[in-house]
Amino acid sequence: MRGEDGIKTAKLDWEANAPRSVFFDDIYFSGDGVSETRHVFLDGNDLPARFAHAQRLVIGELGFGSGLNLLSTWRLWRSVAKPAGAHLDFLSTEKYPLTAEAMARTLAPITSLADLSARLLAVYPPPVAGFHRIALDHDITLTLMIGDAAAMLAQAQSRVDAWFLDGFAPAKNPGMWSAAVFSQIARLSAPHATAATFTVAGAVRRALQDAGFEIEKRPGFGRKREMLTARKTAPPSADAARQPWFPRGAAQRAGARVAVIGAGVAGASLARALHRRGCTPVLIDGGGLANGASGNPAGLIMPRLDLGGGAAARFFLAAYLHALRTIDAVQTETGETFFRAIGVTLKARDEAEAQKQNKLLDARILPPEYIETCTDGLYFPQAGVIDPRAYCRALAGDAPLIENNAARAERVGDAWRIHFAGGGHDMFDAFVLANGRNALRFEQARSIPLGATMGQIDYFPGDVRNDFPGAEAPDQAVAAGPYFAPAPSGGVVIGATYEKIGADDEAVSTPATSATNLAAIAEIAPELAARLQTLSPRPRAAIRCQTPDRLPVAGVLVDWGFYAGAYDGLRTGRASDYPPGETMDGAFILAGLGSRGLVTAPLCAALIAADISGAPSPVERDIAEALHPARFFIRDLKRARKVRAN
Ligand code: SAM
Repeated sequence: MRGEDGIKTAKLDWEANAPRSVFFDDIYFSGDGVSETRHVFLDGNDLPARFAHAQRLVIGELGFGSGLNLLSTWRLWRSVAKPAGAHLDFLSTEKYPLTAEAMARTLAPITSLADLSARLLAVYPPPVAGFHRIALDHDITLTLMIGDAAAMLAQAQSRVDAWFLDGFAPAKNPGMWSAAVFSQIARLSAPHATAATFTVAGAVRRALQDAGFEIEKRPGFGRKREMLTARKTAPPSADAARQPWFPRGAAQRAGARVAVIGAGVAGASLARALHRRGCTPVLIDGGGLANGASGNPAGLIMPRLDLGGGAAARFFLAAYLHALRTIDAVQTETGETFFRAIGVTLKARDEAEAQKQNKLLDARILPPEYIETCTDGLYFPQAGVIDPRAYCRALAGDAPLIENNAARAERVGDAWRIHFAGGGHDMFDAFVLANGRNALRFEQARSIPLGATMGQIDYFPGDVRNDFPGAEAPDQAVAAGPYFAPAPSGGVVIGATYEKIGADDEAVSTPATSATNLAAIAEIAPELAARLQTLSPRPRAAIRCQTPDRLPVAGVLVDWGFYAGAYDGLRTGRASDYPPGETMDGAFILAGLGSRGLVTAPLCAALIAADISGAPSPVERDIAEALHPARFFIRDLKRARKVRAN
């Protein structure tokens, strides 16, 4: 199997006593696997003792393979008494991911890890290039980075406390032990980070020393006489690829109280993501939960696919896979069903669209089990229809909701005072603007070009579907620009219009717009439209906030005055020596979700929660930069240079 970015799944044989890679002619682990992992990686990094007093610990691994190292680490993590609120992040790179079947077969004999293996397999992502953020348990998170180790580590934004260097023997796989990989290890390692590996090859010893580690030989596992452990003594190396104007912001204290301003899908997703990261989110919204576009009677969870493999394309793909995982996790936790994975067809309306769809298929952006051809176009079997209100309620969980509008954020010492429109105020360590275009009412966000469109959907309630002869009932959702979908509560939803509106315009539904929606559906499903024509719709108009580049804004808010001065040289093309961007510590924004917030909000929220808590970023660095709140400001400065040059 091969993905667009050349992701090939591993080829294994089990002929010897141990699972062996056909590509590398080397084994994944020896013996029962568990004892070797314990000896080399867990004890080699002194993890049993470190776990006992860990608050936030990050392990970085070269070579995820069968996941055995992760599972052994997870078991140890569970068995140790830790400080309250401790969280373990496990980052791992893998160029040739095992198929789920190969992983199941490899792990099956290891019965002592059977329960954890089953949990890993249930959330194991498809072989799609890039970062996959996976919540394994409330206090352990896996970030699986599928791709070549050097390229993936270059995209990581994290501090790593302990390394598992497990990339096959250097003689058989020199690429995994390259200077490019070690320079990333030097960049990502925390002060006093440790590393352990089964090999004592001279090249590895020297590379670790060059990366600022002091090395030590210890007795190896089984028949291996020696292994290596190492401790970082040099300060972290400079980050050559870094664009200083895209900072992540300083991490807040553990348990930070965070005001989440706006309780739509952005705010609800933030509540969940922040809670996972040990923060205390408080939702603030005068309209209550999901009262804007997130309160429609149905929404589609489906991918947006783009060719080219750029940051935007990879973001939408990762967001879709992340949303599916999040929905699954939330449904399991709450026991509620608010998502029906009935599949969504993306209908090609003309020859040009059909050709684009063929290119998407040829590019293998998604593995075959995630995308199929059908008579009308493309079909996404995992996609489906969600009840947005129930989704938001479940995401928000137990987070308190203040039913009042926030009017202003004021810096007071190290804290933020949030003033309410109805009078009064409250103090927080940090805040996130998740209130769509109303973010512009806050002076901290005024430089961000947020625009608004109005979208109207029409809901035909009741058991409309049963009025159809069975075969004609919309048993799945179809999108083709306009869409129709069976609503979770019965009936049919059609939509949606896009109308640019002014900054202060309100959302108003009209019969004329209902007619527009019906006319659009008549183009793709004439029989459905004819039937709906005789019924009375319940129109609902809502405002969507979007950005000029149609990507969300997710990240820390910056000190715009500092930016204007420090980066002024970008206007004239000055090449280097720019200082790191100054942020408004504790001030964040998640906005501009457009019409895709149900899909993109959970991943954006995970990114912001990681920034607030100092956790590893869940997305590739270029994706975080493509979403960064300062991007428009920086682009404008650089554009001025182009205008001058012309
Ligand atoms: N830690 C694994 C486990 O617990 O099963 C075993 C890892 S195995 C010894 C080495 C892994 O490194 C293989 O899965 C292999 O596909 C992966 N690998 C090899 N070269 C790589 C590269 N350049 N970038 C990322 N992964 C690579």
